[in-house]
Amino acid sequence: PVVLGIESSCDETGAGLVRDGKLLGHAVASSMAEHARFGGVVPEIAARAHVHSMQSVVDKALAEAGLSFGDIGAVAVTSGPGLAGALQVGVAAAKGYAYALDVPLYGVHHLAGHVAADTLEHGPLPEPCMVLIVSGGHTSLLLVRDLVRDPIVHLGDTMDDAAGECFDKVARVFGLSYPGGPAIDRAAQSGDPKAVAFPRPLTAPRDREDRFAFSFSGLKTAAARWAEKHRAAGPELPVADGAASLQEAVADVLTRKAVAACREHDVRTLVVVGGVAANSRVRSLAQARCASAGIELRVPPLGLCTDNGAMIAAVGDLLVRSGAKPAPLDLAVDPSAPLEYAALTPLPLPA
Ligand code: ATP
Ligand code: MG
Ligand code: FE
Repeated sequence: PVVLGIESSCDETGAGLVRDGKLLGHAVASSMAEHARFGGVVPEIAARAHVHSMQSVVDKALAEAGLSFGDIGAVAVTSGPGLAGALQVGVAAAKGYAYALDVPLYGVHHLAGHVAADTLEHGPLPEPCMVLIVSGGHTSLLLVRDLVRDPIVHLGDTMDDAAGECFDKVARVFGLSYPGGPAIDRAAQSGDPKAVAFPRPLTAPRDREDRFAFSFSGLKTAAARWAEKHRAAGPELPVADGAASLQEAVADVLTRKAVAACREHDVRTLVVVGGVAANSRVRSLAQARCASAGIELRVPPLGLCTDNGAMIAAVGDLLVRSGAKPAPLDLAVDPSAPLEYAALTPLPLPA
């Protein structure tokens, strides 16, 4: 069947249509501009924007796919984690569609969606594969077997800030535009990545126990101190050099640990997903290091790295084809759902 995927966990309203692993059409609306003057996502504004955009985003996805409502055979929705009010809008809409069309409903974990995004471009994931999730709220190294059947093994997570959060917060200190990640990436293009020797957290030999864990709050503080020192000394902050050096430090830590995890677990494929996978240096350094380690690198196309509905439809499609039991129509949102399984609907799946 054609699976409609709906995403509304943060500030993007997304709808996507997937059948048998193929993306048929998708559309995204963002309330990013409405949050800019607050310097971060305002939950109430995000929720209202989802209410406003939901129907038109679904219509756009259907139009792009050349399909109509009656063609939808199942509905998948992000039911966690994310902002509670924002999630509620997507889940309520998904229930309405599923009920009206009399088709099954699936609750999907947002991060499993980020992982599945890659399958829409590069086909089914090999088993096992190493997944580096780097987004606005998460930074994790995961050992993934069957994405929808098997429990996901966390090799390491961030102990404080996520990598995207580090970019976003430092960008503010540097006086760059919102959202910070893409702004750092742009500024870094004309900077020297060796200009500032920022720390590489949790990579020293004494950090062996935490070799697959991450920590970015110290890096954030180091970048803020560097900016402070420069501002005290003169009016011109060399933003490009700071951005390039910060981006280099983040990319270095992420890719070094991800490749080491592949080696240690004898995994031949690394998948880098989430918003920060859109970062140009993360992509190029991952490419170089994987090539020299004989590891296949998979990164979703730029437009599928950040939040979208296609990735949620991709998980829904896998669930349908695996014979998963649908969610009940009283499916609740789970704003802090841990990533254990891709589905937040009843488990286990039939063998
Ligand atoms: P989560 O998926 O953890 O719930 P989220 O959905 O807010 O969080 P995503 O949409 O996956 O996060 O990604 C947004 C993050 O990606 C932001 O922190 C943003 O700054 C970052 N980002 C986007 N593009 C780039 C880029 N080119 N370079 C660096 N960071 C980027
Ligand atoms: Mg966003
Ligand atoms: Fe996300």
